[in-house]
Amino acid sequence: MIDFLIIGGGHAGMHTAFAAMQRKCSFVLVDPFEENATNISAGIINPITGRKYKPQWHIEVLLPFAERIYAAMERQLETSILHHSGIWKMHKSEEALEAWLMAGKTPETMTWVSEDAEQHVWQKHLDHRFGAIQIPKAKRVDTTAMMNAFRKIYAENCMKESINYAELEVHDDHITWKGEKYRHIVFCEGSRVMQNPWFGHISLWPAKGECLIAHIPHLKSNVILQKKVFIVPFGSDIYWIGASNDFTDATYDPTQAKLDELTEGLRDMLNLPYKIIAHRAGLRPTMRDRTPVVGTHPLHKSLHILNGLGTKGSLLAPYYAHILLDDILHNTGIPAPADVQRTFR
Ligand SMILES: Cc1cc2nc3c(=O)[nH]c(=O)nc-3n(C[C@H](O)[C@H](O)[C@H](O)COP(=O)(O)OP(=O)(O)OC[C@H]3O[C@@H](n4cnc5c(N)ncnc54)[C@H](O)[C@@H]3O)c2cc1C
Repeated sequence: MIDFLIIGGGHAGMHTAFAAMQRKCSFVLVDPFEENATNISAGIINPITGRKYKPQWHIEVLLPFAERIYAAMERQLETSILHHSGIWKMHKSEEALEAWLMAGKTPETMTWVSEDAEQHVWQKHLDHRFGAIQIPKAKRVDTTAMMNAFRKIYAENCMKESINYAELEVHDDHITWKGEKYRHIVFCEGSRVMQNPWFGHISLWPAKGECLIAHIPHLKSNVILQKKVFIVPFGSDIYWIGASNDFTDATYDPTQAKLDELTEGLRDMLNLPYKIIAHRAGLRPTMRDRTPVVGTHPLHKSLHILNGLGTKGSLLAPYYAHILLDDILHNTGIPAPADVQRTFR
């Protein structure tokens, strides 16, 4: 019998598979391997988020954990995944600068932020008239490199298809799919979980995000730049620009309105020619309570879920995949706020 059948090959599915492998468990991962939220994301890990400049919840645990897992993945997949890029964040306006000075700049925040006026060649191409701060420990996960290397090295464990739920036979202590028996199934379907017969009820409220890929030949920055939009270096003068956020549109199509919004944001910060070479859209799997959803079905003990990674898949997936696998194998428990049990009450 195979230990795990994993449905979905985005952040949630890849990290679940990696956690299974680290525990010497066998697995099969099923995904159509088309565009998903993970491979269109920038992969930014930002310790300081939101308008109030608060450190991300639990960052002192989550960040070292993620760094350890990505380093192990890099060794296993023989590819570079985690880039220690740092963020250079420009204040958008006089009011934004004021908000930073009055409310944002707390001792807690300053453990992650630096105000050093370090000089970089690329600064001359940017409008930073209201000042800037640096977040040196911010990172970027190269999600495309991670997914491509995983599929190449574990080709025999990956099946390129979309699972038909009606083909799953759920028994007390195993699942059968296409004549093969599995001890556990972990659903990692992101925003498509709504079609799942066992977990479709979870309170997912997808946030549509659109982004651009641009060629900016003269910028020459290897730091993540942020003002109204992020400009994220992808190498070879290619940059990721994004992202929009929309809870009212649950389609997967790029729109003219967001193209205009993102290019306006880009022009507001950058004084250089650029060429847009791609425009993408995806749905972030966001829970209404903004907390991941992890754990085991109350009636079917072989069915599990890892979802609700929202805007922070790169940071949260390594931690919650390991929490889930330890709970499945050793009954170690799921932190109550993230436990899927909350969705069955
Ligand atoms: C524009 C944009 C920018 C973002 N930027 C960042 C960022 O900078 N940093 C960050 O941390 N996060 C970012 N995010 C959020 C991040 O992408 C998500 O948190 C994360 O990717 C969610 O991973 P997931 O595996 O849950 O979902 P997904 O990546 O969507 O993966 C789910 C997978 O399940 C598969 N699937 C679904 N149903 C089935 C089925 N029946 N059979 C087989 N396979 C199935 C899908 O095809 C898909 O491949 C961004 C998101 C967007 C849209």
